[in-house]
Amino acid sequence: MSNPSLLILPGDGIGPEVMAEVVKIIDWYGAKRGMAFDVSEDLVGGAAYDKHGTPLHDDTMAKAQEVDAVLLGAVGGPKYDNLDFSVKPERGLLRLRKEMDLFANLRPAQCFDALADFSSLKRDVVAGLDIMIVRELTSGIYFGEPRGIFTEGNERVGINTQRYTESEIDRVARAAFELARKRGNRVCSMEKANVMESGVLWREVVQKVHDADYPDVELSHMYADAGAMQLCRWPKQFDVIVTDNLFGDLLSDAAAMLTGSLGMLPSASLGLPMANGRPKALYEPVHGSAPDIAGQGKANPIACILSFAMALRYSFDQGAEATRLEKAVEQVLADGLRTADLLGEDGVTPVSTTEMGDAIVAAL
Ligand code: ATP
Ligand code: MG
Repeated sequence: MSNPSLLILPGDGIGPEVMAEVVKIIDWYGAKRGMAFDVSEDLVGGAAYDKHGTPLHDDTMAKAQEVDAVLLGAVGGPKYDNLDFSVKPERGLLRLRKEMDLFANLRPAQCFDALADFSSLKRDVVAGLDIMIVRELTSGIYFGEPRGIFTEGNERVGINTQRYTESEIDRVARAAFELARKRGNRVCSMEKANVMESGVLWREVVQKVHDADYPDVELSHMYADAGAMQLCRWPKQFDVIVTDNLFGDLLSDAAAMLTGSLGMLPSASLGLPMANGRPKALYEPVHGSAPDIAGQGKANPIACILSFAMALRYSFDQGAEATRLEKAVEQVLADGLRTADLLGEDGVTPVSTTEMGDAIVAAL
């Protein structure tokens, strides 16, 4: 059997810096755990534009469709701000998401104990927090037609349409139930069925998928406004939250801030299963290219490293190894290591990107 394949797209700004640390970790798994990956590396974003005049070359797109998982750093930067919209670095990432049909966006909010005082909430509310938000990413109000600014009588009207088909709801619900089975076995579905027709259908389809194929998973439903409130009040009541594109956008950003720095947050975007049963998948840190600190060795590599941990768990069925990596991160934080973004008031000297990466490898 051939090794699982991984396409690495470091991108721009701090992307290559944080990805270099992930590569050390991938090498460690190959050397010490006998888990060899077929790794290839390519350009995306501004880096691809500089070489090819396009933020994603067709060959790179084709490669992304073939591999078991794509791992991306970050795209963009001030150098590319004045480019035409059609070749902006971000378009490279959007093309990947669209052509791979990555409809389920997974954003975990996990609070490492050593950082529990970093949250804007009280320690007991966030310590030990480990929840997962599954946001539908390719449909809903951001894509529904009609949309636009129209003239009606003597004034203008701005229109967006929230639109979900049964199959779109069905597939994201399945993604959430599958995830829950690998975690705490609970799903809370959020919509506004009290005021939106799409919400009525959403609730009905999620319940139907549950009853037919996932009766072992505990399912609850919540109105998204009440869900937002509960997420801030007592987030530990949740395991997996599944919601639409718009509500997921808001809820996942809110949940992210329960846990501290942008430099800590991983994500995964999953599509339909491929012939080998693995889902199409792209893993990336939530943060951007951070031009203000790029090239200075200050970037926190943990978000990108935890994105690789998600790849181990969701693409390669290596849940125990993913946990090992998360524990190594937890260990270095408990030992007091901090990149600059994680510094509080007590004057600890920050470690560099490479020092953090090396420490995590040592902890492994
Ligand atoms: P984008 O438009 O690509 O999302 P952005 O400007 O919205 O970019 P980031 O590039 O993520 O956001 O940067 C936001 C702030 O967070 C910056 O001050 C940046 O330095 C900081 N930041 C982001 N990622 C990291 C990281 N991994 N380590 C340290 N600081 C980070
Ligand atoms: Mg941003």
